[in-house]
Amino acid sequence: MTADIQRLNRRLASAQPSATYRIIDRVAERRAQGAQIISLCAGEPDFDTPEHVRAAAFQAIEQGHTRYTQVAGVRSLREAVAAKFRRENALDVSWQDTLVCNGGKQVIYNALAATLNEGDQVIVPAPYWVSYPEIVQLCGGEPHIVTCDAASGFKLTAQLLAAAITPQTRWLILNSPSNPTGAVYSRDELRELADVLLAHPHVLILADDIYEHLIFDDQWFYTLAQVEPRLAARTLTMNGVSKAYAMTGWRIGFATGPRWLLQAMETLQGQQTSGACAVSQQAALAALEGPKDFIHASRAAFQRRRDLMVERLNAIGLECFSPAGAFYAFASCASLIGRTSLAGRVLHTDEDVALALLDEANVAVVQGSAFGLGPYLRIAYALDERSLHKACEAISGFCQAVC
Ligand code: PLP
Repeated sequence: MTADIQRLNRRLASAQPSATYRIIDRVAERRAQGAQIISLCAGEPDFDTPEHVRAAAFQAIEQGHTRYTQVAGVRSLREAVAAKFRRENALDVSWQDTLVCNGGKQVIYNALAATLNEGDQVIVPAPYWVSYPEIVQLCGGEPHIVTCDAASGFKLTAQLLAAAITPQTRWLILNSPSNPTGAVYSRDELRELADVLLAHPHVLILADDIYEHLIFDDQWFYTLAQVEPRLAARTLTMNGVSKAYAMTGWRIGFATGPRWLLQAMETLQGQQTSGACAVSQQAALAALEGPKDFIHASRAAFQRRRDLMVERLNAIGLECFSPAGAFYAFASCASLIGRTSLAGRVLHTDEDVALALLDEANVAVVQGSAFGLGPYLRIAYALDERSLHKACEAISGFCQAVC
Protein backbone atom coordinates (compact mmCIF):
# COMPACT_ATOMS: atom_id res chain seq x y z
CA MET A 1 0.00 0.00 0.00
CA THR A 2 1.46 3.36 -0.98
CA ALA A 3 1.26 6.41 1.25
CA ASP A 4 -0.72 7.99 -1.56
CA ILE A 5 -3.72 5.80 -0.78
CA GLN A 6 -4.42 8.05 2.20
CA ARG A 7 -4.40 11.23 0.14
CA LEU A 8 -7.44 13.29 1.10
CA ASN A 9 -9.39 15.86 -0.79
CA ARG A 10 -7.18 18.93 -0.61
CA ARG A 11 -9.85 21.16 0.90
CA LEU A 12 -10.59 18.65 3.62
CA ALA A 13 -6.89 18.15 4.23
CA SER A 14 -6.48 21.84 4.99
CA ALA A 15 -9.56 22.04 7.23
CA GLN A 16 -8.68 22.77 10.85
CA PRO A 17 -10.06 20.36 13.41
CA SER A 18 -12.35 22.57 15.47
CA ALA A 19 -10.59 24.09 18.47
CA THR A 20 -13.71 23.39 20.49
CA TYR A 21 -13.10 19.66 20.11
CA ARG A 22 -9.82 19.91 22.03
CA ILE A 23 -11.72 21.06 25.12
CA ILE A 24 -14.57 18.62 24.55
CA ASP A 25 -12.11 15.71 24.12
CA ARG A 26 -10.34 16.77 27.29
CA VAL A 27 -13.65 16.89 29.18
CA ALA A 28 -14.36 13.31 28.05
CA GLU A 29 -10.86 12.23 29.07
CA ARG A 30 -11.12 13.82 32.53
CA ARG A 31 -14.60 12.37 33.09
CA ALA A 32 -13.30 8.92 32.12
CA GLN A 33 -10.70 9.39 34.87
CA GLY A 34 -13.54 10.00 37.32
CA ALA A 35 -13.45 13.82 37.53
CA GLN A 36 -16.74 15.65 38.18
CA ILE A 37 -16.70 18.29 35.46
CA ILE A 38 -19.32 21.02 35.07
CA SER A 39 -19.43 21.62 31.35
CA LEU A 40 -20.40 25.08 30.16
CA CYS A 41 -19.52 24.16 26.57
CA ALA A 42 -22.88 22.92 25.34
CA GLY A 43 -24.33 24.40 22.19
CA GLU A 44 -27.80 23.10 22.94
CA PRO A 45 -30.67 23.69 25.36
CA ASP A 46 -30.66 21.33 28.35
CA PHE A 47 -34.46 20.89 28.21
CA ASP A 48 -36.29 17.89 26.80
CA THR A 49 -38.15 18.24 23.52
CA PRO A 50 -41.77 19.29 24.37
CA GLU A 51 -44.08 16.41 25.06
CA HIS A 52 -46.56 17.10 22.26
CA VAL A 53 -43.68 17.02 19.78
CA ARG A 54 -42.44 13.69 21.07
CA ALA A 55 -46.00 12.33 20.91
CA ALA A 56 -46.30 13.49 17.30
CA ALA A 57 -43.17 11.54 16.43
CA PHE A 58 -44.54 8.32 17.95
CA GLN A 59 -47.75 8.86 16.05
CA ALA A 60 -45.84 9.51 12.84
CA ILE A 61 -44.13 6.14 13.13
CA GLU A 62 -47.45 4.40 13.79
CA GLN A 63 -49.01 6.16 10.80
CA GLY A 64 -46.26 4.98 8.49
CA HIS A 65 -44.22 8.15 8.03
CA THR A 66 -41.22 5.91 7.67
CA ARG A 67 -40.30 6.23 4.02
CA TYR A 68 -38.29 8.61 1.86
CA THR A 69 -39.88 12.02 1.55
CA GLN A 70 -39.50 14.61 -1.18
CA VAL A 71 -35.98 16.02 -1.09
CA ALA A 72 -37.22 19.53 -0.24
CA GLY A 73 -39.41 18.23 2.60
CA VAL A 74 -43.03 17.10 2.90
CA ARG A 75 -45.59 19.60 1.68
CA SER A 76 -47.31 19.95 5.08
CA LEU A 77 -44.04 20.91 6.78
CA ARG A 78 -43.08 23.29 3.98
CA GLU A 79 -46.48 24.97 4.36
CA ALA A 80 -45.88 25.28 8.10
CA VAL A 81 -42.41 26.72 7.49
CA ALA A 82 -43.84 29.26 5.03
CA ALA A 83 -46.54 30.16 7.58
CA LYS A 84 -43.84 30.59 10.25
CA PHE A 85 -41.85 32.97 8.03
CA ARG A 86 -45.02 34.96 7.26
CA ARG A 87 -46.27 35.04 10.86
CA GLU A 88 -43.04 35.58 12.77
CA ASN A 89 -40.83 37.36 10.24
CA ALA A 90 -43.29 39.19 7.96
CA LEU A 91 -41.69 37.54 4.92
CA ASP A 92 -43.92 37.10 1.91
CA VAL A 93 -43.35 33.41 1.14
CA SER A 94 -45.31 30.43 -0.09
CA TRP A 95 -44.43 26.80 0.51
CA GLN A 96 -42.58 26.61 -2.82
CA ASP A 97 -40.13 29.20 -1.46
CA THR A 98 -38.94 26.89 1.31
CA LEU A 99 -36.49 24.05 1.73
CA VAL A 100 -36.19 21.58 4.60
CA CYS A 101 -32.74 20.20 5.41
CA ASN A 102 -31.03 17.91 7.91
CA GLY A 103 -30.46 20.66 10.47
CA GLY A 104 -29.60 24.31 10.06
CA LYS A 105 -26.04 23.30 9.38
CA GLN A 106 -27.00 21.53 6.17
CA VAL A 107 -28.85 24.65 5.02
CA ILE A 108 -25.61 26.59 5.35
CA TYR A 109 -23.50 23.87 3.75
CA ASN A 110 -25.92 23.46 0.84
CA ALA A 111 -26.07 27.19 0.18
CA LEU A 112 -22.32 27.69 0.17
CA ALA A 113 -21.52 24.47 -1.72
CA ALA A 114 -24.12 25.38 -4.35
CA THR A 115 -22.71 28.85 -5.03
CA LEU A 116 -19.01 29.17 -4.20
CA ASN A 117 -16.24 28.92 -6.76
CA GLU A 118 -12.48 29.32 -6.36
CA GLY A 119 -11.63 32.85 -5.28
CA ASP A 120 -15.08 33.73 -3.98
CA GLN A 121 -15.01 35.47 -0.61
CA VAL A 122 -17.45 35.14 2.25
CA ILE A 123 -17.56 37.88 4.87
CA VAL A 124 -17.69 36.28 8.31
CA PRO A 125 -17.95 38.74 11.21
CA ALA A 126 -15.89 37.61 14.22
CA PRO A 127 -16.59 36.35 16.84
CA TYR A 128 -18.26 33.71 14.66
CA TRP A 129 -19.77 30.27 14.99
CA VAL A 130 -16.81 27.94 14.45
CA SER A 131 -18.38 26.14 11.52
CA TYR A 132 -18.74 29.17 9.20
CA PRO A 133 -15.10 29.58 8.13
CA GLU A 134 -14.63 25.81 7.92
CA ILE A 135 -17.67 25.31 5.69
CA VAL A 136 -16.62 28.22 3.47
CA GLN A 137 -13.18 26.71 3.09
CA LEU A 138 -14.52 23.20 2.44
CA CYS A 139 -16.76 24.63 -0.28
CA GLY A 140 -13.81 26.23 -2.04
CA GLY A 141 -14.36 29.83 -0.90
CA GLU A 142 -12.23 32.13 1.21
CA PRO A 143 -13.48 33.31 4.57
CA HIS A 144 -12.96 37.05 4.94
CA ILE A 145 -12.97 37.50 8.69
CA VAL A 146 -14.03 40.93 9.93
CA THR A 147 -13.25 41.46 13.59
CA CYS A 148 -16.06 43.10 15.55
CA ASP A 149 -14.80 43.94 19.01
CA ALA A 150 -16.47 44.71 22.31
CA ALA A 151 -16.75 48.42 21.40
CA SER A 152 -19.37 47.57 18.77
CA GLY A 153 -21.03 44.99 21.03
CA PHE A 154 -19.29 42.31 18.88
CA LYS A 155 -21.52 43.36 15.97
CA LEU A 156 -20.75 44.22 12.39
CA THR A 157 -21.15 47.93 11.68
CA ALA A 158 -21.98 49.59 8.38
CA GLN A 159 -18.45 51.04 8.24
CA LEU A 160 -16.79 47.66 8.77
CA LEU A 161 -19.08 46.05 6.20
CA ALA A 162 -18.49 48.72 3.57
CA ALA A 163 -14.73 48.36 4.01
CA ALA A 164 -14.89 44.56 3.74
CA ILE A 165 -16.87 44.20 0.51
CA THR A 166 -14.76 43.55 -2.59
CA PRO A 167 -15.69 42.51 -6.15
CA GLN A 168 -14.93 38.92 -5.01
CA THR A 169 -17.45 39.03 -2.14
CA ARG A 170 -20.09 36.38 -2.79
CA TRP A 171 -21.77 36.15 0.62
CA LEU A 172 -22.14 37.93 3.91
CA ILE A 173 -23.05 35.75 6.89
CA LEU A 174 -25.08 37.46 9.61
CA ASN A 175 -25.97 35.62 12.80
CA SER A 176 -28.40 37.14 15.29
CA PRO A 177 -28.73 36.29 18.16
CA SER A 178 -25.09 35.31 17.94
CA ASN A 179 -23.20 32.23 18.87
CA PRO A 180 -20.79 32.88 20.67
CA THR A 181 -21.63 36.36 22.03
CA GLY A 182 -25.43 36.42 22.35
CA ALA A 183 -25.43 39.79 20.57
CA VAL A 184 -28.66 40.74 18.79
CA TYR A 185 -28.91 43.19 15.89
CA SER A 186 -31.59 45.83 16.36
CA ARG A 187 -33.84 46.95 13.57
CA ASP A 188 -31.79 50.17 13.18
CA GLU A 189 -28.51 48.28 13.02
CA LEU A 190 -29.90 45.99 10.32
CA ARG A 191 -31.22 49.05 8.48
CA GLU A 192 -27.69 50.50 8.35
CA LEU A 193 -26.22 47.24 7.08
CA ALA A 194 -29.02 46.99 4.50
CA ASP A 195 -28.15 50.44 3.16
CA VAL A 196 -24.59 49.28 2.50
CA LEU A 197 -25.78 46.02 0.93
CA LEU A 198 -28.22 47.78 -1.40
CA ALA A 199 -25.21 49.46 -3.02
CA HIS A 200 -23.54 46.08 -3.68
CA PRO A 201 -25.96 43.94 -5.67
CA HIS A 202 -23.43 41.12 -6.22
CA VAL A 203 -23.51 40.09 -2.54
CA LEU A 204 -25.74 37.31 -1.26
CA ILE A 205 -26.73 37.32 2.41
CA LEU A 206 -27.15 34.38 4.74
CA ALA A 207 -29.25 35.33 7.77
CA ASP A 208 -28.68 32.64 10.38
CA ASP A 209 -31.65 33.12 12.70
CA ILE A 210 -31.38 29.80 14.52
CA TYR A 211 -31.50 31.50 17.97
CA GLU A 212 -34.42 33.76 16.99
CA HIS A 213 -36.68 32.77 19.89
CA LEU A 214 -34.02 33.00 22.57
CA ILE A 215 -34.17 36.75 22.92
CA PHE A 216 -34.55 38.58 26.23
CA ASP A 217 -35.92 41.68 27.92
CA ASP A 218 -39.01 41.76 25.68
CA GLN A 219 -36.90 42.80 22.70
CA TRP A 220 -38.20 42.22 19.20
CA PHE A 221 -36.36 39.99 16.79
CA TYR A 222 -35.79 41.30 13.26
CA THR A 223 -34.28 39.57 10.26
CA LEU A 224 -32.62 41.38 7.38
CA ALA A 225 -35.11 40.56 4.59
CA GLN A 226 -37.92 41.83 6.82
CA VAL A 227 -36.18 45.12 7.51
CA GLU A 228 -35.30 45.62 3.84
CA PRO A 229 -37.60 43.62 1.50
CA ARG A 230 -35.53 44.74 -1.50
CA LEU A 231 -32.80 42.41 -0.21
CA ALA A 232 -35.13 39.39 -0.06
CA ALA A 233 -34.24 38.36 -3.62
CA ARG A 234 -30.66 37.70 -2.52
CA THR A 235 -31.10 36.72 1.11
CA LEU A 236 -31.28 33.19 2.39
CA THR A 237 -33.13 33.30 5.72
CA MET A 238 -32.23 30.23 7.71
CA ASN A 239 -33.82 28.83 10.83
CA GLY A 240 -34.77 25.50 12.41
CA VAL A 241 -36.26 23.74 15.39
CA SER A 242 -32.97 22.84 17.13
CA LYS A 243 -32.66 25.69 19.62
CA ALA A 244 -36.23 27.03 19.83
CA TYR A 245 -37.85 23.68 20.59
CA ALA A 246 -34.90 21.82 22.15
CA MET A 247 -34.72 19.52 19.13
CA THR A 248 -31.00 19.47 18.32
CA GLY A 249 -30.96 15.71 17.80
CA TRP A 250 -33.91 15.65 15.42
CA ARG A 251 -31.92 17.42 12.70
CA ILE A 252 -34.45 19.70 11.06
CA GLY A 253 -33.47 23.08 9.63
CA PHE A 254 -35.20 25.14 6.99
CA ALA A 255 -34.81 28.22 4.86
CA THR A 256 -36.48 30.61 2.51
CA GLY A 257 -34.81 32.59 -0.23
CA PRO A 258 -34.70 33.06 -3.98
CA ARG A 259 -36.00 30.04 -5.88
CA TRP A 260 -32.91 29.64 -8.10
CA LEU A 261 -30.84 29.18 -4.94
CA LEU A 262 -33.30 26.87 -3.18
CA GLN A 263 -33.47 24.73 -6.33
CA ALA A 264 -29.67 24.46 -6.53
CA MET A 265 -29.55 23.53 -2.85
CA GLU A 266 -32.24 20.91 -3.40
CA THR A 267 -30.29 19.38 -6.30
CA LEU A 268 -27.23 19.13 -4.11
CA GLN A 269 -29.14 17.67 -1.19
CA GLY A 270 -30.79 15.15 -3.52
CA GLN A 271 -27.39 13.60 -4.23
CA GLN A 272 -26.23 13.83 -0.67
CA THR A 273 -28.73 12.96 2.07
CA SER A 274 -32.07 13.15 0.22
CA GLY A 275 -34.93 14.52 2.30
CA ALA A 276 -34.63 14.95 6.05
CA CYS A 277 -35.74 12.15 8.39
CA ALA A 278 -39.47 11.52 7.79
CA VAL A 279 -40.31 11.12 11.50
CA SER A 280 -38.41 14.27 12.41
CA GLN A 281 -40.29 16.23 9.77
CA GLN A 282 -43.59 15.27 11.42
CA ALA A 283 -42.17 16.23 14.81
CA ALA A 284 -41.03 19.61 13.43
CA LEU A 285 -44.51 20.13 12.00
CA ALA A 286 -46.01 19.57 15.44
CA ALA A 287 -43.50 22.02 16.92
CA LEU A 288 -44.24 24.76 14.39
CA GLU A 289 -48.01 24.34 14.51
CA GLY A 290 -48.34 23.59 18.21
CA PRO A 291 -48.55 25.73 21.36
CA LYS A 292 -45.73 28.17 22.03
CA ASP A 293 -45.62 27.95 25.82
CA PHE A 294 -42.41 25.92 25.67
CA ILE A 295 -40.66 28.79 23.91
CA HIS A 296 -41.86 31.29 26.52
CA ALA A 297 -40.79 29.06 29.41
CA SER A 298 -37.33 28.31 28.03
CA ARG A 299 -36.77 31.97 27.18
CA ALA A 300 -37.66 32.96 30.75
CA ALA A 301 -35.35 30.28 32.18
CA PHE A 302 -32.44 31.38 29.97
CA GLN A 303 -33.01 35.01 30.89
CA ARG A 304 -32.82 34.16 34.63
CA ARG A 305 -29.64 32.18 34.04
CA ARG A 306 -28.15 34.97 31.96
CA ASP A 307 -28.76 37.46 34.76
CA LEU A 308 -27.21 35.12 37.29
CA MET A 309 -24.12 34.45 35.14
CA VAL A 310 -23.50 38.02 34.05
CA GLU A 311 -23.67 39.25 37.62
CA ARG A 312 -21.39 36.53 38.97
CA LEU A 313 -18.85 36.71 36.13
CA ASN A 314 -18.49 40.48 36.42
CA ALA A 315 -18.11 40.17 40.19
CA ILE A 316 -15.34 37.61 39.64
CA GLY A 317 -13.54 40.01 37.29
CA LEU A 318 -14.38 38.23 34.04
CA GLU A 319 -16.00 41.21 32.38
CA CYS A 320 -18.94 40.62 30.11
CA PHE A 321 -21.86 42.63 28.86
CA SER A 322 -25.37 41.32 29.28
CA PRO A 323 -26.15 39.41 26.08
CA ALA A 324 -29.56 40.06 24.54
CA GLY A 325 -30.07 36.54 23.27
CA ALA A 326 -28.97 32.89 22.82
CA PHE A 327 -27.48 31.13 25.87
CA TYR A 328 -23.86 32.24 25.88
CA ALA A 329 -21.89 34.79 27.87
CA PHE A 330 -18.71 36.01 26.19
CA ALA A 331 -16.48 37.07 29.05
CA SER A 332 -13.10 38.76 28.82
CA CYS A 333 -10.26 36.91 30.54
CA ALA A 334 -7.71 39.65 29.75
CA SER A 335 -7.14 40.13 33.50
CA LEU A 336 -5.75 36.58 33.76
CA ILE A 337 -3.39 36.68 30.78
CA GLY A 338 0.30 36.61 31.71
CA ARG A 339 -0.44 35.43 35.24
CA THR A 340 0.20 32.03 36.84
CA SER A 341 -2.39 29.54 38.02
CA LEU A 342 -2.26 27.76 41.39
CA ALA A 343 -0.82 24.67 39.68
CA GLY A 344 1.97 26.81 38.23
CA ARG A 345 0.81 27.23 34.64
CA VAL A 346 1.54 30.50 32.94
CA LEU A 347 -1.63 31.67 31.21
CA HIS A 348 -0.35 33.01 27.90
CA THR A 349 -3.60 32.71 25.95
CA ASP A 350 -7.32 32.25 26.49
CA GLU A 351 -6.88 28.59 25.53
CA ASP A 352 -4.40 28.25 28.43
CA VAL A 353 -7.05 29.77 30.71
CA ALA A 354 -9.75 27.38 29.46
CA LEU A 355 -7.48 24.33 29.86
CA ALA A 356 -6.33 25.40 33.33
CA LEU A 357 -9.93 26.03 34.41
CA LEU A 358 -10.80 22.54 33.28
CA ASP A 359 -7.86 20.84 34.95
CA GLU A 360 -7.74 22.88 38.13
CA ALA A 361 -11.36 23.95 38.73
CA ASN A 362 -13.24 21.18 36.87
CA VAL A 363 -15.23 23.69 34.82
CA ALA A 364 -15.24 23.47 31.05
CA VAL A 365 -15.64 26.57 28.88
CA VAL A 366 -14.41 27.32 25.36
CA GLN A 367 -11.76 29.94 24.62
CA GLY A 368 -12.92 32.94 22.57
CA SER A 369 -10.06 32.58 20.10
CA ALA A 370 -11.76 29.40 18.82
CA PHE A 371 -14.52 31.78 17.66
CA GLY A 372 -12.09 34.26 16.17
CA LEU A 373 -11.62 36.69 19.09
CA GLY A 374 -9.47 36.40 22.19
CA PRO A 375 -8.80 36.67 25.05
CA TYR A 376 -12.36 35.67 25.92
CA LEU A 377 -14.23 32.69 27.27
CA ARG A 378 -17.53 31.50 25.84
CA ILE A 379 -19.63 30.33 28.74
CA ALA A 380 -22.78 28.44 27.79
CA TYR A 381 -25.44 28.65 30.49
CA ALA A 382 -27.66 25.85 29.20
CA LEU A 383 -27.57 24.21 32.62
CA ASP A 384 -29.69 24.33 35.78
CA GLU A 385 -29.13 27.22 38.19
CA ARG A 386 -27.62 25.07 40.95
CA SER A 387 -24.90 23.82 38.61
CA LEU A 388 -24.31 27.36 37.36
CA HIS A 389 -23.81 28.60 40.94
CA LYS A 390 -21.39 25.73 41.59
CA ALA A 391 -19.50 26.52 38.39
CA CYS A 392 -19.22 30.20 39.39
CA GLU A 393 -17.86 29.24 42.82
CA ALA A 394 -15.19 27.10 41.16
CA ILE A 395 -14.30 29.79 38.61
CA SER A 396 -14.10 32.36 41.38
CA GLY A 397 -11.76 30.13 43.43
CA PHE A 398 -9.58 29.61 40.36
CA CYS A 399 -9.35 33.33 39.62
CA GLN A 400 -8.57 34.24 43.23
CA ALA A 401 -5.71 31.72 43.28
CA VAL A 402 -4.14 33.08 40.10
CA CYS A 403 -1.19 35.30 40.85
N1 PLP B 1 -26.02 28.30 13.40
C1 PLP B 1 -25.50 28.55 14.60
C2 PLP B 1 -25.05 29.93 14.93
C3 PLP B 1 -25.36 27.53 15.55
O1 PLP B 1 -24.83 27.79 16.76
C4 PLP B 1 -25.78 26.23 15.19
C5 PLP B 1 -25.62 25.10 16.14
O2 PLP B 1 -24.91 25.16 17.10
C6 PLP B 1 -26.33 26.02 13.93
C7 PLP B 1 -26.44 27.09 13.05
C8 PLP B 1 -26.77 24.67 13.46
O3 PLP B 1 -27.96 24.26 13.99
P1 PLP B 1 -28.54 22.81 13.68
O4 PLP B 1 -28.40 22.04 14.94
O5 PLP B 1 -29.97 23.04 13.32
O6 PLP B 1 -27.77 22.21 12.56
